[in-house]
Amino acid sequence: MTPKTLPETCPGINKFIRPTPETINCHSCGRSLEIWSDETQTKCDDCGAQVSRESGTSCLDYCEYAAKCKDIISKKIIK
Ligand SMILES: [Zn+2]
Repeated sequence: MTPKTLPETCPGINKFIRPTPETINCHSCGRSLEIWSDETQTKCDDCGAQVSRESGTSCLDYCEYAAKCKDIISKKIIK
């Protein structure tokens, strides 16, 4: 038996600590918009519509360690 250790973070946390730009299409006018991986919605430059992610869930919504991860994110995130 080896002692069971938990990793400090899961891989899913990386996109919150180091946000990366992703592409999303405006549901209203079809314009291709940039959305950061730590954002759940953005505003269309053309028509002003609020554009939300199609899959609004992240690992923080279902992971049993989400509370711990959110704590780590709030400490590590660099603005
Ligand atoms: Zn638009």
